[in-house]
Amino acid sequence: LDGSISRAIQQMSNATIIDDNVLNECLNEITRALLQSDVQLKLVSDMQTNIKRIVSLHDLTGGHNKRRIIQQAIFTELCQILDPRKSSFTPKKGKASVIMFVGLQGSGKTTACTKYAYYHLKKGWKPALVSSRAGAFDQLKQNDATRVKIPFYGRIAVEGVKRFKKENYDLIIVDTGGHHKQEASLFEEMHQVAEATRPDLVIFVMDSSIGQAAFDQAQAFKQSVSVGAVIITKMDGHAKGVGALSAVAATKSPVIFIGTGEHIDEFEVFDVKPFVSRLLDILMSFVQLPQKLFEGNLTLRMMYEKFQKILKRDSIGQVLSMLPPKSAELTLNDHEKEIQAKFKSYVTVMDSMTDEGKQKMLYIWFYFLNSAREITIESNSFFFPRASGRRVREVMGMLELYKDIAKVRSKLGEMGGIGALPRSMM
Ligand code: GDP
Ligand code: MG
Repeated sequence: LDGSISRAIQQMSNATIIDDNVLNECLNEITRALLQSDVQLKLVSDMQTNIKRIVSLHDLTGGHNKRRIIQQAIFTELCQILDPRKSSFTPKKGKASVIMFVGLQGSGKTTACTKYAYYHLKKGWKPALVSSRAGAFDQLKQNDATRVKIPFYGRIAVEGVKRFKKENYDLIIVDTGGHHKQEASLFEEMHQVAEATRPDLVIFVMDSSIGQAAFDQAQAFKQSVSVGAVIITKMDGHAKGVGALSAVAATKSPVIFIGTGEHIDEFEVFDVKPFVSRLLDILMSFVQLPQKLFEGNLTLRMMYEKFQKILKRDSIGQVLSMLPPKSAELTLNDHEKEIQAKFKSYVTVMDSMTDEGKQKMLYIWFYFLNSAREITIESNSFFFPRASGRRVREVMGMLELYKDIAKVRSKLGEMGGIGALPRSMM
């Protein structure tokens, strides 16, 4: 663990006294990094709560000890997310098991099937490949399988399974997929194949670069077939594999292998600890970003107070004239009433946030940049303890405006300090 952990934790280590503030600061940094990396907001806020609970169980008055406790808590908590506390079905050599692979088109299912077969072949198993229908198993992978002498059956899945069972194969791997115009038809086919072949294990294959969509996608699969394990593919690419956290949370199933390349032997047994170490390393490289973006020290809290004043005073035109022309949905041509309504909605959004959320809006900024704008903000997150019924799109609008005001302010700050701004902006 030493050396693999963050700058944020280092900062904490440099602090002479570790009080709640230092701990919070550190947790906030990590939270922000996780959110930027597309981990689901709910997961992150739960994690933060858990870490605080673990840490509070210890007496933090003693010297170096408490740093270790906090470091360990963060590491442990990330490992916990990846541990569904339940192992997947393990096939037994010599006894026929049917393993079905599911996942979106292009996620790497067919490749993973072949790799999984080859991995077991090398360990003395008798694997065979079955395709749920013509076309799912492309020629390229068929060649791969043929080259390493793994038999392949590409017509009707249930026939293939029957045949290989009769021929004493002990690992019958069923690939699904092919081209589907509608997601519904993909799920329908998957469901039918599962009904027909009665798999002992269904493996959900997920591309590591999927990001914020990981949770919903994994959940959708889990709802239509009983997923029992996860394989994360393309870990050799730019992706951080953070989606694995969401996939495990959504399917309550363990990650069993990761794909690390296009080649048949670029396949590794999943190991939680090195994975989390790597994840933390990468997460921490994001940690410094936001400060640079938001110079001028304008907190959302200040903006909130300002908006309230604006609403009272009805001096919107005056404020707008201060903003850069392209600014956030708001232009001078807009009808005053419309603008007023927009400001009101911003105030509502901010009303639903904690004070801490208002002060530290910056992480949320990065989170929202990557997420669907039409999502209604959940009330169970720590930034938004009360439901506002607002959509991310509105918060985005608000943040755009915030950013512009912050920019103007920091420019003015250079020229003549904050005093250069008109009173209505303060
Ligand atoms: P399917 O549609 O889910 O069956 O996906 P395929 O198995 O056909 O894979 C889609 C593409 O991703 C192919 O070009 C594969 O070679 C590639 N691919 C699959 N797994 C990996 C991996 O772990 N690393 C890399 N770099 N490419 C992969
Ligand atoms: Mg395929």
